[in-house]
Amino acid sequence: MILEILINTDDGEEDYDTTWYPNGYASNQSTIGHDGTGSCDVGLRFDNSGIAEDASILNAKIRVKCAVNSTKRPTLKIRGILQAAPATWDQATRPSTRPKTIAAVDWDIGTDWAINTWYESPDITSIIQEIVNQTGFNGDIALVIEDDASPSNQYENIWDYNQGATESPELVVTLGSTTKIQKSLTYYLEPQIQGVNLPKQLKYAVDATPSPIQKSLTYRIDLPGVSLIQKALKYGVLTTPTPITKQLKYCIDKAPIKITKSLRYEIVPPPAIEKQLKYTILTQHLIEKELRYFIQEAIPPTEKSKNQVLKTYNVIEQNSDDGREDSDGNWNKDGNASHIITMGNYGGKTHTGAFRFRHVNIPRNATIFFARLRLRCAYTDSTAFTTKLRIKGIKEADVQPFSATNKPSTKPKTVDTVAWEIYKQWNVNEWVQTPNLLLIVQELVRQSDWKAGNAMAFIIEDDGSAAENCKSVWDSSSGAEDKAELEIYWFDKEVNVSFLQLNDRDGEEDYRDKTPPTNAWYPDGWGNNRITCGDDGTYSPDASPNDAGFIFSPILIPKKAQIVSARLLVTSDNQNNAMTNWIIRGFAEDNAAPFASDGSNRPSTRMKTQAWVQWTLGVAEGGILTGIHWTAQSVYESPELKEIVQEIVDRAGWIGDASQKLGLVIESEHSAIGNAKYIVDYSKGGAGQWAAQLIIAWQQKRRTTTITKDLAAYDKANYPEFIIVHHSATPRDSTKFITIKNAHISYGWGDIGYHKWVSGLLDGDGILIQGRPENWIGAHTNSNKQNYRSIGVCVCGDFHSTAGNEIPTAAQLATLQQLLDTIRKQRNTPKERVLGHTEVPGAATNCPGDNLLPYIQNYRLTGSLT
Ligand SMILES: [Zn+2]
Repeated sequence: MILEILINTDDGEEDYDTTWYPNGYASNQSTIGHDGTGSCDVGLRFDNSGIAEDASILNAKIRVKCAVNSTKRPTLKIRGILQAAPATWDQATRPSTRPKTIAAVDWDIGTDWAINTWYESPDITSIIQEIVNQTGFNGDIALVIEDDASPSNQYENIWDYNQGATESPELVVTLGSTTKIQKSLTYYLEPQIQGVNLPKQLKYAVDATPSPIQKSLTYRIDLPGVSLIQKALKYGVLTTPTPITKQLKYCIDKAPIKITKSLRYEIVPPPAIEKQLKYTILTQHLIEKELRYFIQEAIPPTEKSKNQVLKTYNVIEQNSDDGREDSDGNWNKDGNASHIITMGNYGGKTHTGAFRFRHVNIPRNATIFFARLRLRCAYTDSTAFTTKLRIKGIKEADVQPFSATNKPSTKPKTVDTVAWEIYKQWNVNEWVQTPNLLLIVQELVRQSDWKAGNAMAFIIEDDGSAAENCKSVWDSSSGAEDKAELEIYWFDKEVNVSFLQLNDRDGEEDYRDKTPPTNAWYPDGWGNNRITCGDDGTYSPDASPNDAGFIFSPILIPKKAQIVSARLLVTSDNQNNAMTNWIIRGFAEDNAAPFASDGSNRPSTRMKTQAWVQWTLGVAEGGILTGIHWTAQSVYESPELKEIVQEIVDRAGWIGDASQKLGLVIESEHSAIGNAKYIVDYSKGGAGQWAAQLIIAWQQKRRTTTITKDLAAYDKANYPEFIIVHHSATPRDSTKFITIKNAHISYGWGDIGYHKWVSGLLDGDGILIQGRPENWIGAHTNSNKQNYRSIGVCVCGDFHSTAGNEIPTAAQLATLQQLLDTIRKQRNTPKERVLGHTEVPGAATNCPGDNLLPYIQNYRLTGSLT
């Protein structure tokens, strides 16, 4: 086809990148090249070409008609204007102001030009193809013929449209095959299923592809950016948790329709890969599109979860995905005029909040581990009034966006619902977490037509609140940082949820280390039906631990089942920034007894599991450990507890029937003084509706592991074969554990460097405090790879005779003796493998000081420090 300039404002001359002349500089002639003063360029626009977006361009060239006989030989360059809908030219939108294509074609004039003769440019297919491939390309094509460093006074003059419609430049384009790109993509992607080496297979695919597409792909491969893309893909394979081949296979299955458009529209899902794509966008525009295609369709695998609990995370994506309906049936997708979704009883009406999440990638019939909404409060309540709400799912396999005709009240709801009775004050911009929505999500993914990637929606209705009792959260129209979130943990095996069935199943124990303990056990927590957990500051500056005990049932898990994941869910009773350091242990009992009201079997009196898990509610910010914020009446989950539960389920006397009970304790492990969090006790709210839950995912089939040491793994985990004793090299009677822990965290370490700490006077003379878990790599002895093969024990004090010249106290030595004996017994470690730090080959240190080292040496000889 031949495209012509149709209007005088569609061509003209720009001089020196500053001034636009719509009729050329003079006499309807446009100058291209160097006019003796500077560079002159010509802008051309071909309106309404009729070429479709993504059309295949076979060849293209520009024709210009010479206006003056010339022996000049300028060097020119043609570029496209990279705009999907380029406007006509004027001074404000002259060529130098507009974005250009990456593709560019040199046009070096090598002959004399004669007046009124037509001359043709070299082929500019690459430029036109790049223009046509823009999303939303509207058929208008704009080009610029630029001076490309011509010597002074080397230029041509060509006729402008103002000279006459048939005199102005033309664009000649031949369209290629109309074969859709996506079809051929499907074709050449097939071989990729066979293996993982993506770059190689891409090359192979290119060779094997039929002509039109093959050409463009080959061309792209030849471009310099391609090696980068191969790297990016390789990188993607490494970082993606699932093999990328599977994802590609899925792409192919789903490939039938639009590629480029839908892909650009939804690049969101896997963030690691998304980054890679941005990188490729910078290096090569043309390739970007197809890569985006791969990624976008790469819905995470939905088949096998490889024996672990998986998590999906969704955020409200569009404004039609959330909003509020009142009891008069009015739907408002922005909540109200202030972008607030009100839920409950307000203004004489009841209000329902609605939240829809797209692309929920959970396979049908998956087992839900737990699920919750996270909502951001939009209002600070004046008091702690009670609002009674009820959460329901919308019982459709792929919920459509909300609208006035498709509003929550018109939709079918799930049979299972979750009560959400909020008795606490909310504060603006806090994040609240709902109770566990497991039952609702479970019902939704069991629908016969549910598919991974479908949309899922929840509504929160009033459930009998008193007049003017309501809660407010931000609508998505308020801003990106305010959008509601959905978190679902799921699994493809079996899950057991157990509860605190009665009031004797939880409570608080105070000051377990005081003798004799006074008022030690509180079945309903210490006050307000809440369990203080952490350090309540009573014995400041001494530690004042408050612990929480829990007995759960039923635990319908057979003996020797494999525990895949276990989490404790607790509800926070207040808004709280406290920094607590907790250790969770199990009761080493076949069938844990409920707590006696007189405290006779309170947690500290019972046998604990060997396995324990640290739960530190602090984060290191700028070297300072800061408490993690808990919101009033939100539900929080513990770290992974599977090792504890496994140890209990493996007990000889474990039965696993409906009466089976399992106990856990959260112990304060030297939380910062006066730092405690509050957990709602069973006694609050009657039937334990806010009480703790224990969720366990398990499977019948037991995994077996070899005992052969894997060299790669050897560098990633601690395999203790030695015990290394250190001193803190700080004053024995004025150093606190938490001070050293904070200092180590400030180095960027995950925790204190040692596994065990024998305290000085401030934490209690000779108290054993747990440092990092024993299976973590230590950060105490660099030489001899000991950080990977030892338990690091630190005795508080400066035992160097030329420095602090302190000596270990009798209590410290007694604790150290017991600790060394215990570790050795548990791990079958010979006493010869207990070393002072300085004795480790390669260690350049005097640690643990010559006032402590002789005790260690004596221990190696006799098994006794003294
Ligand atoms: Zn040391």
